[in-house]
Amino acid sequence: MLILGCHLSVSKGYAAMGRDAVKIGANTFQFFTRNPRGGNARAMDLQDANALSDIMKEHKMPVFVAHAPYTLNACAANEATREFAYRAMTEDLARLEFFPGNFYNFHPGSHVGQGEQAGIQLIAQLLNEALTPQQTTTVLLETMAGKGSEVGRTFGEIREILDRVQLQEKMGVCMDLCHVHDAGYDIVNQLDDTLEEFERIIGLDRLRAIHINDSKNPLGSHKDRHETIGNGHIGLDAMARIINHPQLRHLPFVLETPNDLDGYAREIQLLRSLEKDA
Ligand code: FE
Ligand code: FE
Ligand code: ZN
Repeated sequence: MLILGCHLSVSKGYAAMGRDAVKIGANTFQFFTRNPRGGNARAMDLQDANALSDIMKEHKMPVFVAHAPYTLNACAANEATREFAYRAMTEDLARLEFFPGNFYNFHPGSHVGQGEQAGIQLIAQLLNEALTPQQTTTVLLETMAGKGSEVGRTFGEIREILDRVQLQEKMGVCMDLCHVHDAGYDIVNQLDDTLEEFERIIGLDRLRAIHINDSKNPLGSHKDRHETIGNGHIGLDAMARIINHPQLRHLPFVLETPNDLDGYAREIQLLRSLEKDA
């Protein structure tokens, strides 16, 4: 069975989020570790956290993806912003140890005019300061659309970050389908070539999760506007090929499409109906 779910709100607590996942037929999910625009993390309620772990066990949800806030910019030019990035990531990682063995996804960052190389250095530096040998969480670099001065718009940039991280075994990659498409990778007509390139440059063993989003804009547009499944420039046929691809089908797929809970339930049902037997 596909490991498939969507982005959910944790505002009513961890267990409530788990119940939402069950209700919509998801067996994975994603949430923001704190307000996406920044700020402090919610207080940790151990009983609530344990209740989520119980729900995940009972409903055979192997893993979740915690998403760092958008304001976390590891390669900001401003030192106070980089300081926030360090603090947010170390706090988030400490807290995620209440749920051993899940994923923490973040946007590599925007170099804001300092150049890719400076950005790559700063991102790796943050990771080398924040990761610990004891952590059980795998940190995922998300592939980006290349909007503005975003770092991580090519597989090569992701590879350059990974190469500079000491605790390699704690790192992985999350491929956002809208982002790679907008970055110029033709996952509609050249899926195999794109995956071959990923294998050659990064290694498919590093690919640990997929953000399954359609795109409002054409290939290579560098825009990053998500569309509901089948209604954008990627389309339903390509989505079916992606979820059934032998090199991808085992991965967790997380929807970040513009939807409410009912819309997510329908997209999950739609994608499950497209799953073929291995
Ligand atoms: Fe993201
Ligand atoms: Fe994403
Ligand atoms: Zn996006």
